[in-house]
Amino acid sequence: MIIAIDGPTASGKGTIAKRVAAHYGFHLLDTGLLYRAVARAVLDVGQSLEDSEAATTCARKLDFGALDESRLRTREIGDAASVVSAYPGVRQALFEGQRLFAQKKPGAVLDGRDIGTVICPEAEAKLFITASSEIRAHRRWLELVKLDPALSEESILADIRRRDERDSNRSNAPLKIADDARLLDTSLMDIETASREALRLIEASLSRQG
Ligand code: C5P
Repeated sequence: MIIAIDGPTASGKGTIAKRVAAHYGFHLLDTGLLYRAVARAVLDVGQSLEDSEAATTCARKLDFGALDESRLRTREIGDAASVVSAYPGVRQALFEGQRLFAQKKPGAVLDGRDIGTVICPEAEAKLFITASSEIRAHRRWLELVKLDPALSEESILADIRRRDERDSNRSNAPLKIADDARLLDTSLMDIETASREALRLIEASLSRQG
């Protein structure tokens, strides 16, 4: 059983994916971490993010089991990830590992940008989680301002818009809703309501198939 959860940054999809995986007792893969890890590795070996060959080499060597979240969850690495994730070689190198993960028993939840469209088009349930860019920027700012009190909400909004633009307009596996995905706009929901609604939509998809 595969559950695909896609959507833009700070839409709530990461938290929702965790809760969905816990609810069903399924394995969880946050695929954004893979692209973040590739960007981190490129910078760690002193190469440029513009070097698609260096990024592809790092992607081929990536160990899915050794992702150090604390070094990957920064604002800079999120932005760098959206640069390397546009390279077809990087996406190709990460494809098979994601496909294998999705076959885990009793089931897997994968969250990202292209899970329902490219990685697991056969997923039994697909959600596309979104929210307005202003609301997403506000949520991200609330998280980050604790670490950096000088951070402005406008700069986060600019980041989010740049990232959305890059992720949606790349030619390879752009961020877009799959034809058979259910849309969940979390703009006016707290995370409890959004998670409950996500589970309701998944149940509706599964009972349609059963
Ligand atoms: O979800 P997260 O913010 O961690 O993702 C970081 C970046 O990785 C995204 O902005 C996107 O460019 C890329 N990504 C992707 N495909 C995925 C997951 C993430 O291109 N399935």
